[in-house]
Amino acid sequence: MNKKNILIIVSDQLSQKALPTYGNNYVQTPNIDRIANGAIVFNECYTPYPLCQPARAALWSGRLPHQTKIESNGRNHFVPPYPSELPTLGSIFAEAGYDTTHFGKTHDAGTLRGFRVEPECALEVEGSDAFPVNYDTKRDRYTTVKVVDYLSKQNEKPYLLIADLQNPHDICNWVGHNKGVHKNIPIDKELPALPDNFYTSDFKSRPKPVQYICCSHRRQCQATGWTEDNYRQYLAAYYHYIERLDAEIGLILDALEKRNDAKDTLIVFLADHGDGMAAHGLVTKQVSFYEETTHVPLFFKGQGFRTDRNTAHQLVSLMDILPTLCDYAELETPEGLWGKSLLPILKGENEFEVHEYIVSEWLTEWGFTMEPGRMIRTRNYKYMKYLEENAEELYNISEDRGEQTNLISSPECKSILEHHRSALQEYINTTGDNFNSIDFKIDSRWRSHKPGYENHTGVDAPTAMTK
Ligand code: ZN
Repeated sequence: MNKKNILIIVSDQLSQKALPTYGNNYVQTPNIDRIANGAIVFNECYTPYPLCQPARAALWSGRLPHQTKIESNGRNHFVPPYPSELPTLGSIFAEAGYDTTHFGKTHDAGTLRGFRVEPECALEVEGSDAFPVNYDTKRDRYTTVKVVDYLSKQNEKPYLLIADLQNPHDICNWVGHNKGVHKNIPIDKELPALPDNFYTSDFKSRPKPVQYICCSHRRQCQATGWTEDNYRQYLAAYYHYIERLDAEIGLILDALEKRNDAKDTLIVFLADHGDGMAAHGLVTKQVSFYEETTHVPLFFKGQGFRTDRNTAHQLVSLMDILPTLCDYAELETPEGLWGKSLLPILKGENEFEVHEYIVSEWLTEWGFTMEPGRMIRTRNYKYMKYLEENAEELYNISEDRGEQTNLISSPECKSILEHHRSALQEYINTTGDNFNSIDFKIDSRWRSHKPGYENHTGVDAPTAMTK
């Protein structure tokens, strides 16, 4: 057995396109760059569900969201505990003799079983008028202190350590802090430009769940009335919280590098899901599967990995992490997992795709509106299907990364559309997905105004239904 240390650094709500590693030139992340330098960086990694709890449960268990049944953040939607007889990343490594420890954000519905899960605590951190800090930033401070302390001690056993950081998730609080029509916030830095896909010319071709995110998602409702400059400030704030994340990661890397065994430690860096980043006028994360919320960073840095070139082009998913780590540590991977080991790619032994397509799922955020959806990403296209009105989207992702032109009605794309519909059906058949038979009802209150987030009126579903 390969008993080498493994450090997993998790960020929360970090889009791939927000990082300089992937070409962003506004934000500064010298420490994330430190990990990327010499790492295998996956360019096409997706979350299995663009929401915290379902994504994390799938990541730590290796099972798809519809298989765990952990398909929401809870509240008005039942989230079952993860079955105790099924293995998790933590249980597999703990049984193999690893010291398995987790610091930071949990939100895992029991899938961190097998880890010694340290309590989520906070330390005081100073914010500013432009960029106030909430519990995410404060908890990250505490998490880093604990991780640094852990790394400063020598261990008898090899470790599997998770530093589960919450930023840039503090952007959610920022939106609440700046909800509705408001004056410009003084920011003494040039504001980032709006993305090219800020406006959506064919908005009316988008599925209803996407058209009415302002009604189903509290943070989108709070962005009603924002000006272009308000959105640019939102992006500046998002980048600010990424820089806070990066500073914490720097302290963790410093502590790691002081150890004798640092070079032998496998580092994995990932995010549970992304953020709207003002694309299509969207904020935070919600029912849409657009690139900003589903396309996430994934790096592996370890000894014996490929060094000829650093980027990996294969279509991969967070679902591949558990099988990869089992393979790396020479432990048996549980049977029946959809994810695959990426170790042959890391070692330079495989240049080919490991998946023909990647899938992301959606059911509901809190259970106040049910909007079942699935996304299929293939090499050149991205297809989405929602059960409401059987609405679909199809994008040529190689040429239209901003998802500006929905090709669903294009006669030239008919066979491509059929191919993607078949791929979804294959996923449904082979993974025991109940997607086609999910029972749901649309509440007409959340489909009542003229489409467009700027036309939103009244409160959103979660706010109305929890009062
Ligand atoms: Zn609305």
